[in-house]
This record gives sequence, C-alpha cells and structure tokens, in this order.
Amino acid sequence: MQRRYRGAFFLSAPGRPRQVALTFDDVPDPRFTPQVLDILKRKQVRATFFVVGEKALKHPDLVRRIRREGHAIGNHSFDHPNFARMSTAEVRRQIRRTEAVIRRQVGFAPRLIRPPYGEIREPQLKWAKSEGYAVVNWNVDSLDWRQLGAQAVFRNVTTAVRPGSIILLHAGGGVGQNLCGTIEALPVLIDWLRSKGYEMVALPQMLGKSERKA
Ligand SMILES: [Zn+2]
Repeated sequence: MQRRYRGAFFLSAPGRPRQVALTFDDVPDPRFTPQVLDILKRKQVRATFFVVGEKALKHPDLVRRIRREGHAIGNHSFDHPNFARMSTAEVRRQIRRTEAVIRRQVGFAPRLIRPPYGEIREPQLKWAKSEGYAVVNWNVDSLDWRQLGAQAVFRNVTTAVRPGSIILLHAGGGVGQNLCGTIEALPVLIDWLRSKGYEMVALPQMLGKSERKA
C-alpha cells in the first residue's frame, strides 16, 4: 500500500538517517495531553499530535498550546469511528468536520490524516490522495492504549525502532483509560533514543511534506 500510494500513505519513512517521529493520538485530553507537552518541552522534542474533532471542540486551549509549542497537528477524525466500516462519503465528512474545527483554532487545515485504529480502505485512500492529504499510520506500536506500565511501553518501542520509524503513542484516551505508563516512559524513552543517536522530528519534516493542506 505504501508503494502503491507513494507520497500519500506512510507507515514509516524509509531511508531517513536515524530520524524517528513520536506521534500522539486521541488528543486533546486535559488529563494527559498537558503532561506529555510538559515533558516534550523540557526535553526539547518536536512531535506530532493527531486531533479528534469532538475533543478539540471541548478543549480548544489545548489544541492551541500544541501548536504554540511547535508541534505538528494532524486529523484523527471527528468522533473516532472505524473508517473500514464506513463509506468514503462518511469518511470525508469525518475529516472535513474536524478540519473546520482545527482551522478555526489554529488557522490552517492539516495535510496529515491518521485513521482511527489505523483502519482505512482503498477507495478512501484514493480519495485522500486525490485531495492532497497524506495518510500516516505507524510501524512501531507502543501498545500504550492497553494501559501498560512504563517498562512495557518502553520495551515495545525500543525493541522495534529503527531509522525512519513512526512511533504510535497516545496523549488522550477514553473514559477511565489510564495513560500513566506513557507519561512515565516518555522521558526515559526520549533519553534512550538520543543515546542511540536518534533525532526526534515532527512528521512533516520526516516525510518532507508541508503540515498544511494546499
Ligand atoms: Zn485513536
């Protein structure tokens, strides 16, 4: 799929010299997003945040903070449905609705889309490509959404990472979902990646794409 939809669908960025991208889904969430942002600021790391439209409506201040602190913003649907069970028209509505929210809050429409659960069908990819979007999944899954402890989150990333990796983490969750493992692992993970010579960059830089949709 990455080959067939070259430039419009990514799991990783092959050929990058020891660069990786930390990506945080399901934001904004007042329980976890500020903590993640605090750590990234302290460690001076730029990351990418995938915004859920209905959450952004509730916490516009957090979306603006993500932007203000220099991170990249992508579209993670309006209310987190599974695109594989939807028509292309429904997917388009999900993307456009969130895009309108993000545009009001930070002033631009993001080019990057991450489908919830990484699920997307080919006609939807074709639509995204024709509209100039880039769909970005991942090739390293921290599995942090399972509410794992910090050591497991750390291990899941460090055993799988390689140059060009796109790393899936979460800075928001459902009701009662606990991401303390992510928060605890993150500073240690950043230090480990740096010690191995990895540079952490935002997705637009790693993929050579503009953050804004044309
Ligand atoms: Zn998600």
